[in-house]
Amino acid sequence: MFSRGPSVRIEGSAKADKAVCPDCGVSSARVHSRYQRRLCDAAAGGQEVLVELRVRRFFCDSSCCERKTFAEQVPGLTDFATRRGHTRSR
Ligand SMILES: [Zn+2]
Repeated sequence: MFSRGPSVRIEGSAKADKAVCPDCGVSSARVHSRYQRRLCDAAAGGQEVLVELRVRRFFCDSSCCERKTFAEQVPGLTDFATRRGHTRSR
């Protein structure tokens, strides 16, 4: 018997206490908020993969930056989901 739903579950969060603003490159440690992203994806082989990602939003402290807050990127996980979402090959 197989249960329905994702068969692979990955939990992730960034280990660093700082994140770098993608616009100006200044790092910030002031956390604005936290939220959880759930990325669901069908991986090769037809297996459902669920990625539960705890992401933080930081304030950008640079006065010359137009971006006031930014969400951190988790290397390997947010990349992974973005890349997979764009490539639909069979
Ligand atoms: Zn910035």
